Amino acid sequence: MKTSLSKIKYWVFDLDHTLYSPKIRLFDQIEVLMNIYLQNTLKVSEEEAIYLRRHYWEKYGTTLAGLMAEHEIDPDYYLEFVHNINLENIKIDAELSAFLNLLGGKKIIFTNGSRMHAKKVSKALGIYDCFSELYGTEDAMLIPKPKREAFQNIFDLAQVDPNYGMMFEDDPRNLVEPHNMGMKTVLVGDFFKADYIDYNTPDLNSFFQKELNS
Ligand SMILES: [Mg+2]
Repeated sequence: MKTSLSKIKYWVFDLDHTLYSPKIRLFDQIEVLMNIYLQNTLKVSEEEAIYLRRHYWEKYGTTLAGLMAEHEIDPDYYLEFVHNINLENIKIDAELSAFLNLLGGKKIIFTNGSRMHAKKVSKALGIYDCFSELYGTEDAMLIPKPKREAFQNIFDLAQVDPNYGMMFEDDPRNLVEPHNMGMKTVLVGDFFKADYIDYNTPDLNSFFQKELNS
């Protein structure tokens, strides 16, 4: 293991589009359900729902955070509704599970989705047992990444010391605060250069192949 990784004791993973590829089009199903939820709840057209979903995501971090800021809604019902998806496209990722098992220290998932979603998806990927704990947005008191309080809530709960931590994410916004808190940061997916990003990788297996085998 490279010296840069050998000091890491806390490994924090986003879920969607970080632990699995966007190519399996799982999150697309969630977006469709979000649109339907917005249409039904706010009585808007599909076009307006798509606009609002993006608008909330940009302004508040997640669609849920926007809904809660601007409307009175039941977050538990929302989280259950939008995560009611078909997981048949997910395949066991044996390579990823082998890499994760090589990492010493604590491994957790922190998603802006629900804890149950993290459980179902990580089980379908065959990596559920690699993590000591899974955290959903409900564990961060429904405050979403990229807000610092969201990370602070979860790191307090999980007893993560950011100075010895590494954060894996596909959304560059969600690496800003982890970097400020002292973590090493890895952007998974499309290349993006920024001073708060320590590593870029197209996918997790490529990252671990490179960093663990050298
Ligand atoms: Mg993600």
